[in-house]
Order: sequence, then C-alpha cells, then structure tokens
Amino acid sequence: MNKTKKVQLKGLTISELRDYFKSIGESAFRGEQVFNWIYNHKVTDFNEMQNLSKELRTRLDETCEIAALDFVTSENSPSTGTTKFLFKTNDDKNIESVVIPEKERSTLCISTQVGCPLDCKFCATGLMGYKRNLTPGEIVDQYFQSAKNYEDGEITNIVYMGMGEPLLNFDNTLKSIKIFTAELNKGLSRHRITVSTSGIPHKIKELAESELRIKLAFSLHSCFEDMRTKIMPINKKYSLKENIEAIKFYSKKTKTRITYEYTMLKGINDRDEDVKALVKLCSNTPSKINIIPFNSIKHMAPEGISSELEPTPLNEIHEFADKVRNKNITVMIRETQGDDIAAACGQLAVKH
Ligand code: SAH
Ligand code: SF4
Repeated sequence: MNKTKKVQLKGLTISELRDYFKSIGESAFRGEQVFNWIYNHKVTDFNEMQNLSKELRTRLDETCEIAALDFVTSENSPSTGTTKFLFKTNDDKNIESVVIPEKERSTLCISTQVGCPLDCKFCATGLMGYKRNLTPGEIVDQYFQSAKNYEDGEITNIVYMGMGEPLLNFDNTLKSIKIFTAELNKGLSRHRITVSTSGIPHKIKELAESELRIKLAFSLHSCFEDMRTKIMPINKKYSLKENIEAIKFYSKKTKTRITYEYTMLKGINDRDEDVKALVKLCSNTPSKINIIPFNSIKHMAPEGISSELEPTPLNEIHEFADKVRNKNITVMIRETQGDDIAAACGQLAVKH
C-alpha cells in the first residue's frame, strides 16, 4: 500500500497555516490556533491542542506532523558552558546547533544548509562541501528543540552563524525569520535575531526590502579585494565594493547598525594597513566590528592555503583592536567558546 507522506506543519508561517486549514475545509482561525500551539507552547503532539475538537486532532494526527528534526544528543563544554546539540533530519543528515551563554543572554547559533558551497578557506563547514538546503521547518526546529532540551536557562537570541550561507537559502531563511518574529509568537523580537552573510549583495537588498529589520552581520575578514578573494572565493563573484553598497542600503533602510565580522588571521588581515582600511570602511556606515579569534580547522585535514592559516596571537589581537578603537570605532573581541567540543565559529562540520 502507498504510504502517503504527512504534511509537515513546523516551518509553515502564519499565513501558510491559515491557507492550509482553509484547504482542508476548516476555518483559517484553526491555523492561528495551531500556530500558537506549535510555536508558543512548543507542543509536538496534536492531542495537547486542547482548543481543537477531538475529531480534528485525530485527523491532524493521521495526516500531519510537527517535528522536522529528531533530537539525537547534546554535549556540554565544561570550560565555557557552551552546549552543542546534534539533530537528525528525516533523510538522515546530521546538523548541529550551539548555545553560547553570556552574562545576560544565551545565544543559539543555527544552520541554514547542510555544509556550504562557498569554500571559505578558514571554515570547516566550507571544507566539508555542500549537501543541501535546510527546509524552513528544519531551520526553526533547531530553536524549538534546543529550547526544549536546554537545561541551563532560556535561549534569548538567535544568530544565523552555523553551517551554511543563509542568503543562498533565502526563501527558507526568510520564512524562518517570519516565524520567529511573528506577532503571535511572543518569543523573539527582531532585535534578538542576527543573520550573518559572506556577502550576496542583491539578497542583502532583498532582505532590507522584506521589512523584517533583523540585525545583519557581514563576514568582512579583509578590506582588500585581492586578499578577500584569496580567503573567500565568493568575493570574485560579488566584490566587496558591491557588498558595501548593499550594506549601506540595508543599514539605511532598516535603521540598524551593521556588525562586521573579522576572523583574525596572522599576516593576512592583522597588519597596520588593515587597521587603516578598516577604520576607513567603518566610518561609512553605522557599524561595529566583531573580531573572532581564528578557530583551528585542523580536524578537517585541510590542504593548500587552508593548511597555512594561523591565528593572530591574542595579545596582538588586543593591540589591533585598540588601534581601531582609538579612531572611535566600536570593536568587540569574541571569546572563543566551545573550542573544546568543536562548536566554535566555523568548526561546525558534521561527519556524514
Ligand atoms: N555563512 C555565513 C554564516 C556562517 S559562518 C557567513 O559566512 O557569514 C559564521 C561566522 O564564522 C562567519 O563570520 C565566518 O566567517 C566565521 N568563521 C568561519 N570559520 C571560522 C574559523 N575557523 N574561525 C573563526 N571564525 C570563523
Ligand atoms: Fe560558508 Fe560562511 Fe563557512 Fe564561508 S564562512 S564557507 S560562507 S559557512
């Protein structure tokens, strides 16, 4: 007998849920109720949806499902408190999400693709290659399942900085943000959501036009086109110049401050000329710089330029940051967190 595939409700936006319930002969309002159950109450069992009739619950149970991912395991880093979650997709792909606790918030880092096609030379995800895009359900379920299984408090912020390039999986990423920020979903405001991109200019503009007004982080890493192309091949297709223009547009349109991510690489982007160029670039747009110490990718057995990359020593990172700060620019240095469980930035690369 043909087994009919169940409809995945997790990942549907509020308007899609309304439409779905209309399409099965129910009122659109049922869609809102189910939205509330799935995303606010985080239920995964139709029987818990008490304001639906028993008949409808049974029907939904037979035809729909709510979990887009299976929770496999979590691992805690004793030194930093970082927790890494491992999930499995329905087609047996592994994905990871990481919770990074800080003083007043706990940030969940989520993935948008399995692997990444962009091949940045310093990134473990890039080295593992591209497998596929995640569905909206798989993107949002990282949050809902992590929140359910996180024992050290509440997840307050979400950053799209796990595996993959969010703007190359644009529609699904956008849907996931719509779900997180929906008025009916009381959990997360747009101020608590950051999308990080390596720079796809027309998509940055489209994100600006979406009016979602979430925060944007741009993986800068070098202010020089040649050097940036060397470590980020995507820069050949979409130059820094085009990206900066798109970023200015984003900042103006959304009235938000841009974060420039800057992974410090010895001899590559930590020279005096880099300080100068960075100061000049930052003066253009309301922005701040987030320096990320380079996390080792040795576990990926890198070749070519990837094998030659070295971290800038921490004391030199501080000197570099001070020089930029002296020009009245906000600079943060991210503490390397989760290094001991390979959960730090750019270290996510799950073996398949
Ligand atoms: N694809 C997106 C988001 C995921 S990467 C992007 O590139 O922005 C999240 C951040 O981690 C990016 O700023 C990326 O440049 C940085 N990163 C990647 N590998 C790293 C490494 N080995 N050490 C430190 N930061 C790294
Ligand atoms: Fe992809 Fe971002 Fe890694 Fe580059 S840094 S390979 S864009 S995940």
